[in-house]
Amino acid sequence: MVDFTLTDEQKDIRDLAHDFAEKEIRPVAWDYDRDATWPQEIIEKAWEVGLMNSHIAEEHGGPGLDYLTGCLIEEELGWGCSGIGTSLMCNGLASAPVGIGGSEELKKEYFGMLTEEPKLASFCLTEPDAGSDVSGMRTTAVKKGDKWVINGTKCFITNGSHASWYTVYAKTDKEAGHRGISAFVVPRDADGVTVDKKEDKLGQRASDTAMISFNDVEIPAGNLLGEENKGFKLAMMTLDRTRPGVSAMAVGIAQAAFEYARDYSKERVQFGVPIAMHQAIQFMIADMATKVEAARLLVWQSGALLDQGKRNTLASSHAKRFAADSAMEITVDAVQVYGGYGFIKEYPVEKLMRDAKIMQLYEGTSQIQRLVIAREVLMPRRVEEPAAAAA
Ligand SMILES: Cc1cc2nc3c(=O)[nH]c(=O)nc-3n(C[C@H](O)[C@H](O)[C@H](O)COP(=O)(O)OP(=O)(O)OC[C@H]3O[C@@H](n4cnc5c(N)ncnc54)[C@H](O)[C@@H]3O)c2cc1C
Repeated sequence: MVDFTLTDEQKDIRDLAHDFAEKEIRPVAWDYDRDATWPQEIIEKAWEVGLMNSHIAEEHGGPGLDYLTGCLIEEELGWGCSGIGTSLMCNGLASAPVGIGGSEELKKEYFGMLTEEPKLASFCLTEPDAGSDVSGMRTTAVKKGDKWVINGTKCFITNGSHASWYTVYAKTDKEAGHRGISAFVVPRDADGVTVDKKEDKLGQRASDTAMISFNDVEIPAGNLLGEENKGFKLAMMTLDRTRPGVSAMAVGIAQAAFEYARDYSKERVQFGVPIAMHQAIQFMIADMATKVEAARLLVWQSGALLDQGKRNTLASSHAKRFAADSAMEITVDAVQVYGGYGFIKEYPVEKLMRDAKIMQLYEGTSQIQRLVIAREVLMPRRVEEPAAAAA
């Protein structure tokens, strides 16, 4: 049976997230964007009301929510401000490899840090010379006795300056391409971890994006996640789990842009009538509405498959590709509906257009999603060996 009805609990959590976005995020979002302010106060409030770490199981101190409910939260936070939303949701990306491949001790220690206090974690995959093709990474991890020693530099790391710990991908077999990558948990306070650079960005300016270096960083042998040289698979399994949420955030941006454009088109009068009376505007509004609905359904499907314990690689790439590209198209059209005012910072839609752009880039670009989709459609038997796709 196909049933798109949310449970009462899901509706309550969605309402909570919407309320939070409306009261705590929207009123300050444009100021935070202008000044690229770090939203520490909002992070603390979101943590307090239970909107962070939604996937951490109850036994590790989290709410243990299902993936679909996580998507509902991410859409609402994205509707409020996707820059602040990205800061709030990044713990899910960093935690997923620990949830899949971490020992019970690691889960207890590192999930505990996130659930006992409003702390943050980051996911460190991308490097200056290894983005979409992560097999080109240069960071290494070498086993020395009962320690791993990590050396290398990761770039574009969300929440990197503020994280208490990192999941770090490194080469453990330099000759083996993507089959020589392993994943580790690295505490921020380990000797040799430095935050080198905070990026100044086009959009999502309230989120922190930093370059992190690891110089002879020693971590216990037990901080290896999963098996040695199986880190690439762990990264791909992580992205299957997080792409529904990031796609939901794109739907939130798109929904916000659609609402602003719809309302403005009914107020703005040109040629003696509200511009919504002109069919060219109506068609833009209609296309926005359809794209939002279709993207949301793909997001829900990709989350629901995970909740049913099914493989969602294809569904999550459909959702990510379509939701991200739709958010970009819808925000560009929203600026068009606003005319010249859309280009002015005093009006809300230019920020949404800048914010939407990142949705086509992080957690795998739209091109990489198409590569995944094409492979899954053309060669369904070889999907266990996905091509390199980035965070
Ligand atoms: C704000 C921000 C936050 C980020 N957060 C994180 C994070 O928390 N952790 C993390 O690890 N990374 C993060 N990233 C990195 C992000 O995932 C990468 O930027 C992204 O994967 C693309 O890599 P790249 O920038 O090196 O682009 P490249 O891989 O150099 O790609 C350049 C262009 O070529 C295209 N391209 C590449 N290969 C192919 C191909 N085979 N076929 C067709 N087209 C191709 C791409 O789609 C893109 O258009 C973040 C990036 C940004 C900007």
